[in-house]
Amino acid sequence: MVRAENVHKSFGSLEVLKGVDLTVPEGGVSCVLGPSGSGKSTFLRCINHLEKLNAGRILVDGDLVGYRERGGKLHEMSERDVAKQRQSIGMVFQRFNLFPHMTVLDNVMEAPSRVKRENKGEVRERARALLDRVGLAEKMSNYPGQLSGGQQQRVAIARALAMRPKVMLFDEPTSALDPELVGEVLEVMKGLARDGMTMIVVTHEIGFAREVADEVVFMDGGVVVEKGSPSEIIANPQQERTKAFLSKVL
Ligand code: ATP
Ligand code: MG
Repeated sequence: MVRAENVHKSFGSLEVLKGVDLTVPEGGVSCVLGPSGSGKSTFLRCINHLEKLNAGRILVDGDLVGYRERGGKLHEMSERDVAKQRQSIGMVFQRFNLFPHMTVLDNVMEAPSRVKRENKGEVRERARALLDRVGLAEKMSNYPGQLSGGQQQRVAIARALAMRPKVMLFDEPTSALDPELVGEVLEVMKGLARDGMTMIVVTHEIGFAREVADEVVFMDGGVVVEKGSPSEIIANPQQERTKAFLSKVL
């Protein structure tokens, strides 16, 4: 489970997150909607400590992210401990950033075999199973450049899953794709949700949010304006800012 409490983040004098709270229970799916610049990506980056917080705290499965508590105070973790912690938090970006010189299978095997030093044979078996799960068993020996954008994004999802994360963060995973390729990536994500993965998904795919989200969170100006079930937030928003946003994207 993920719990963010009163998260504040500034870049210089620009206050980007002004006290964001979010709780995603084990196996829950939260979809985060909001206009450009509202702080969605910054918030996701705080969850795996790619950004340090100015205030507040984040817990994944009960563990503080990026900090340790000692004598009632928070102390920064070492880079090494942060890197280790980050292994349990999978992240998929708009741009898939696969290693171009490695085959699809090697891309998926890279992190667990190098970072975790796991047994090669086991890692290979798991990577194969994951590629099968995302529908790419036949493309294992191909290079990323030989794949469509949708296929590359599915490899990126398999690569994140190869580390056996406790939670998966998605930052607009389909917004760089041609429209006809969006569906195949969303299908993989739906499958993950069905299998009980805890997920936070920043997306403009309202249909996906309506169908898959347990909770929809609308952010604007660095705050959560409102949150609730898809039927509450998408079909029946209460706040003017949410209504205005939805009227543009629906
Ligand atoms: P989009 O929908 O366009 O992806 P977003 O909601 O993800 O937008 P963020 O990327 O979180 O928005 O950015 C929120 C604000 O923080 C923006 O004003 C952005 O310019 C600023 N910002 C983000 N990262 C940095 C940084 N590293 N340094 C300075 N400002 C930053
Ligand atoms: Mg963003």
